[in-house]
Amino acid sequence: MTKPFDIGVEALRQGLPDKNRRDADGAKAPDDRVRAMSELPSASLRARKLRSPEAAAKSFYLETFGCQMNDHDSEKVSGVLLGRGYRAVETPADADLVLYNTCSIREKAAQKVFARLGDWKTTSQGKIIGVLGCVAQQEGEEIFERAPWVSLVCGSASYRRLPDLIAELETGGRRVTGLDLDTDETFETEITRRDNPFRAYLTIIEGCDYSCAYCVVPHTRGPERSRRSDSVLSEVRRLADAGYTEIQLLGQTVNSYRDPSPRGMHFVDLLEAVAAVAGIRRVRFTTSHPNDFTREIVRAIDATPALCDHIHLPVQSGSTPILRAMRRTYTREEYLEKVSWIRAARRPISLTTDVIVGFPGESEADFDETLSLLDAIQCDGVFSFKYSPRPNTLAREMPDAISEEEKGRRLAVLQEHQRQIQIARNQTLVGTEFEVLVDARHAARDQWAGRSTSNRTVNFTSRHQSLLGEYVQTRVTRAGPNSLVGEHVV
Ligand code: SAM
Ligand code: SF4
Repeated sequence: MTKPFDIGVEALRQGLPDKNRRDADGAKAPDDRVRAMSELPSASLRARKLRSPEAAAKSFYLETFGCQMNDHDSEKVSGVLLGRGYRAVETPADADLVLYNTCSIREKAAQKVFARLGDWKTTSQGKIIGVLGCVAQQEGEEIFERAPWVSLVCGSASYRRLPDLIAELETGGRRVTGLDLDTDETFETEITRRDNPFRAYLTIIEGCDYSCAYCVVPHTRGPERSRRSDSVLSEVRRLADAGYTEIQLLGQTVNSYRDPSPRGMHFVDLLEAVAAVAGIRRVRFTTSHPNDFTREIVRAIDATPALCDHIHLPVQSGSTPILRAMRRTYTREEYLEKVSWIRAARRPISLTTDVIVGFPGESEADFDETLSLLDAIQCDGVFSFKYSPRPNTLAREMPDAISEEEKGRRLAVLQEHQRQIQIARNQTLVGTEFEVLVDARHAARDQWAGRSTSNRTVNFTSRHQSLLGEYVQTRVTRAGPNSLVGEHVV
């Protein structure tokens, strides 16, 4: 896990943070920011959970691979462990419980996990080693065969069972698994350890009901389950009370959200309700599926300044026959039509996308269609991947595989093509102003860094000393393909 902010048992005992405490130069004290990252259970519950002296001595290390959903799942898993009296440590060597929250979206990511597990072959003595997430779900009990020193295997659709599984291990259980996929509930925790002090992630929908031919997610994360709107909104209010101003709603297909409670909110209703919570200044959401992307989403962004002017809308390919083979449920023309709604908005809305190159059967002409689609949509960022055959997917059995070498060539061509688009687009931003939420300091460069509502990174200079967590107006002075350089406008 990168730079975890450990709220620790003491922070749990002390209760909610004092949002207004500031340090000598006026910045929010780091301790406050760190504690503001947790949502805390009621005092009586805390006392009950923290009383066990046996558990209080134990420590855990959790490493996360993959997407933001995995990062956020890890925040919740950490919360479960902290609630049981575990403390987080920085290195696996110091931990009693070593957990890997894994990703299997591409083969390389899955291989990395087995390399990590291999490290423990002769040195796991006395430690509990656990595999969570997508590789756990995909490989199941076979993990015990490949790495007999592992004692916990739990897929994300079974995280609700984690406290019980950990309890079983604490009382001497040798091997435990949580591999059910047919759960109709979402994973909610009493405590979530927040690792990002400036942006709070919040899952509103888990799993996926689509069946894209290349994708393991429906197999590893199970069917789609939306979280009740009242539960989402009360978490947002707690986050706002804890000092968060920016919320990112998460889901594999976030815009397929359907409130299971009698209120029956649609995705746009929920977006507007979250944006209306006092104290919330920015609401982001990812990932949107083009099939469920509606004009109402664009209208809501236009009408509600707190809804960020950025949409991540993965296209995967610019060729309709390849989209059909991928089972993406839309054509090139339908995707372009949705982009035209975004481009017609009154607020300029930033667009990013995902592309897979080298899907089985992708001809040179299909690939050219993808490049021409990138020209047409003028994105501000593209996440591009070589197609990776995955277990339990339709595409794995498809004929006309593209060679690794050719996939690599297409990826390089596409990335250079998009780089030129981004250089040209960002150049037009020189001289314009962006309000950014400051989230980093680069001391060596004497620069601060922040994100605009359109999710652009601005690295800027300022005379001010303590800007972390502040909203600051910046003017762009230079532009690169992936970020902007600017100055603080005072
Ligand atoms: N649910 C999102 C959607 O439908 O657009 C995508 C979620 S997936 C975790 C993130 C991205 O990984 C996908 O958009 C796709 O570009 C990429 N991806 C998924 N499976 C892949 C595979 N087998 N090979 C290469 N890239 C893949
Ligand atoms: Fe995977 Fe497709 Fe579901 Fe996205 S919509 S998670 S790509 S199956």
